[in-house]
Amino acid sequence: MTIEEKPVMSMSEKTARRWIGERGVKVEDIAELVVYLQKPYHPDLKLEDAMEHVEAVLRKREVQNAVLTGIQLDMLAEKKQLEEPLLSIIQTDEGLYGLDETIATAIINVYGTIGLTSYGYIDKQKPGILQFLNDKSTGQVHTFLDDIVGAIAAAAASRLAHRAAHTE
Ligand code: MG
Repeated sequence: MTIEEKPVMSMSEKTARRWIGERGVKVEDIAELVVYLQKPYHPDLKLEDAMEHVEAVLRKREVQNAVLTGIQLDMLAEKKQLEEPLLSIIQTDEGLYGLDETIATAIINVYGTIGLTSYGYIDKQKPGILQFLNDKSTGQVHTFLDDIVGAIAAAAASRLAHRAAHTE
C-alpha cells in the first residue's frame, strides 16, 4: 500500500478509540462480548475474527459520534462539571433517564435492527467488561459507556452474522 492509498484515521476515530481505551475498555474486551453473543451460532469463532468486526464498527462515523458524545458526558459527570439536575441523573445512572440507551441505539441501527435483541440480551446478562462498567463502587461514571460498549458488540455480532449468512 502506498502512502497515498493509506486510509487516514480521522480525528473523530482517533479520539473515540483513545477515549474508549482511557476509560478502561480494550477492543479485545468488546470482541469477547461478540464471541459471547455468537457462541451458540458460531462455536469456533476466534477472538481475532470477532476483533475484525469490532474494528469495522469503530470505523463508522455514526459510531464515533455516539462514542464521543456519550463518553464526554460520562467524563463531565465524573468531574462534576455538569449542571443539576443532569449531573445527579448521570452520576447515579438513574433508571428512567434512558438517553444512554438512545445513544446506543444509534450504533446498533448502523447494521439494522437485528442487533437490538443482542444488545438487550447482553445488557441483562452483563458479561465480561460490562460487569466492570456497571460496578458503582469504583467512583467512575460509565452511564453511557456501558451501553455504548454493549451496542458496539451487538453491532459487530450483526455484521458477523450478515457476512456469515452470505458466505455459507
Ligand atoms: Mg447505562
